[in-house]
Amino acid sequence: MLVQARLERFTRWLLVAAAVVLASCATPATEAQRPKNVIVLFADGVAATQLEFGRYSSRALRNAGFAITDTVLAQGHMGLLATHPHGAFATDSAAAATAMSTGVKTTNGAVGVGPDGKPVRTAAEYAKAAGKRIGLVTTAEIYDASPAAFSVHALQRGNSTAIVDQYLAFEPDVMLGGGSDHFLPEGRPGGKRKDGRDVIAAFASKGYTVARSAAELSAARGPRLLGLFSDDAMDNEIDRAATSQPSFADMVAAALRSLENSPQGFFLFAENENTDTAGHRNDAAALMRDLWAFDAGVQVALEFQKRHPDTLILVTGDHETGGLSITYALRDLRDITSRNRFYSGDTQLKLLSGITMSLDKVQATLGRTPTSAELDRLLATHFPGFRLDDDLRESILQRRPLERNQWDIVRNALGRMVARQTGVYWGTAGHTTEPVVVGAMGPGAERFRGYRDNTDFARILHGVFGAR
Ligand SMILES: [Zn+2]
Repeated sequence: MLVQARLERFTRWLLVAAAVVLASCATPATEAQRPKNVIVLFADGVAATQLEFGRYSSRALRNAGFAITDTVLAQGHMGLLATHPHGAFATDSAAAATAMSTGVKTTNGAVGVGPDGKPVRTAAEYAKAAGKRIGLVTTAEIYDASPAAFSVHALQRGNSTAIVDQYLAFEPDVMLGGGSDHFLPEGRPGGKRKDGRDVIAAFASKGYTVARSAAELSAARGPRLLGLFSDDAMDNEIDRAATSQPSFADMVAAALRSLENSPQGFFLFAENENTDTAGHRNDAAALMRDLWAFDAGVQVALEFQKRHPDTLILVTGDHETGGLSITYALRDLRDITSRNRFYSGDTQLKLLSGITMSLDKVQATLGRTPTSAELDRLLATHFPGFRLDDDLRESILQRRPLERNQWDIVRNALGRMVARQTGVYWGTAGHTTEPVVVGAMGPGAERFRGYRDNTDFARILHGVFGAR
């Protein structure tokens, strides 16, 4: 036992020593700027435009505040991050998250590796070397690009099985999200693994409590937690059945419960991916509710911070998705004068809030080639007050994209239908180069101020974990 304990101490010392050597690019922090706990709340695809949409719609439609703007950005410190990856201007989520986790710019698609394919140290690896416990939360598959790039390494973001295998070796203390498919072997419901392994059982044998539903998550206790709530990505908030899937805020609360008593503190990375998915679909109604759901998770973290002031909260995203622009527009093309113009406002938001289904679920319900009658039936039920113009109907029926950056035919066309009547327009089905916002509250928060590169976020974060 004594030998074992000495060996463990030596290994820990070695890890810390290696961290100090490898962390030469960190921006060192003073003692006062090194909080015990760090919570990164990460809204994929969200920049200032989305945050303002969340804030304004929250006030107009539910007479409620929006904690990100009203508390974190108003009372904390604010910065902006440029997001370009290695070799391009527009980024994907893998390269952006790698930059923000490791401080290294990489090529689109790469996860926790440099442009040369070599692993670079991730934020979770820095935190673990500092003795902190690790939590990963996402509404996407838990092996998706952002949580993966904040913790492990893969040449390509699609190497899902390999990422899950690395989680098993790295042992993040808490993992909550979707994506049970790459934990279970083919032949089991939803299973996709080719090697016959049951990695959920492997985690359980390592002492993890396993939760597969909202009820199991709320009952789950213990320091190590694996929660997988869908085969692939979890549902947009607008579609979510509360009995089967927990909300983003439920997952943040469960992660904090599990990580709370960590002697050296913890690092929690909690991502809402649905905000990005909604952007890709040009789905304003889903995005609005996903922004509110993300904000509810931020509120849970702020409550935790009140009880544990030695906690740094960082609210940010990786890039903007969809080129969201809320604007004024003509009611139709018969008259181009201002008499025929409407300004997006509370009336239009009310129309938006009447929508009861995400465009993802519309597509899943209709399939890729719906008939005109099927379209009309579904729109009458779930999109009250909306009419589908002939050009958009043609685009769907003939499977003809509206533009070269609008390849998601059914969903983007219905997104345009919503835009024409609400003024909530979109410029693309992809990501844009709008800088992302960083909101910071707690010890060390002031260091995130300013207009910076996204790699600076990582360097400052490494310093927060004690790297020099
Ligand atoms: Zn995306």
